[in-house]
Amino acid sequence: MLLIRNNAGLKVFIAQLQKNGQRIGFVPTMGALHEGHLSLIQQAAAQCDVVVCSIFVNPTQFNDPADLEKYPRPITRDIELLQATGCDVLYMPDVEDIYPPDLDTTLRLNPGKLIEVMEGEFRPGHFEGVMQVVKRLLDLVTPDVLVMGQKDYQQVAVIRFMIQKLRLPVTLYVAETERETDGLAKSSRNVRLTQKWRSIAPVIYQTLSATRDKLGTLPPKQLAEAGFRALEAAGLRPEYYRIVDGVTLLDLEKVAKNKPMVVCTAAWAGDVRLIDNVILQP
Ligand code: AMP
Repeated sequence: MLLIRNNAGLKVFIAQLQKNGQRIGFVPTMGALHEGHLSLIQQAAAQCDVVVCSIFVNPTQFNDPADLEKYPRPITRDIELLQATGCDVLYMPDVEDIYPPDLDTTLRLNPGKLIEVMEGEFRPGHFEGVMQVVKRLLDLVTPDVLVMGQKDYQQVAVIRFMIQKLRLPVTLYVAETERETDGLAKSSRNVRLTQKWRSIAPVIYQTLSATRDKLGTLPPKQLAEAGFRALEAAGLRPEYYRIVDGVTLLDLEKVAKNKPMVVCTAAWAGDVRLIDNVILQP
């Protein structure tokens, strides 16, 4: 695996790939890799000639400086995992590579409600940061395929919006959520769960699955309220629990056939914030 630490090195490498007509698959991450990330690498490899993975803990998407500070950074292990998974290139830029002081990387896009609801409500500015970093990474890596996880459903919706709005020449591929055997979605944050909270956290997926099973028995709002209360009853502190339109991410009043629907939640397990979702209708 090739390790590229700066933009000059990346530029030379990408130019060579383009000259050879090789298809580039790209998996942006913040590191602390787990099997979820590695499945994205494998899916990129299945569709492309070369897989580039980036590890960059993007400061502009953290609204809480303590969260940025606490974010795990086990880089030696990450490199070993990527190598074992068959990743071709690890791009690990510095903040100055992504945000050079003389470059305006601000995006003037207005996704409206897409970035205001759910995560947007509880992490103001988060998606502005996500769009900014993904746009910058796409400009630098110039991939044919961008692979992202359904685990971050709203993030995928926002990036899809950005790709369409800016007519970016990249195909977005969304990979399914990898889970622990008890259903807990794999996440870099799981290592911070104490034993107690680790044993409670699977309630999140159990509750989302129960909502899916009960779809149609009650109006979506009532089902969502019941889900919120179920998380509270388990001792978690839910921030939101919403049944939304899979494209607009707005709350749904009723179940409509042929309409994408998803149930999304964010909940605190002790001092660790976890998010998850289950697709109710594709
Ligand atoms: P992160 O490092 O948390 O920014 O995540 C990098 C990418 O991995 C994003 O596209 C995530 O949606 C994806 N991802 C995170 N967790 C999982 C998971 N459990 N299964 C599949 N993909 C995931």
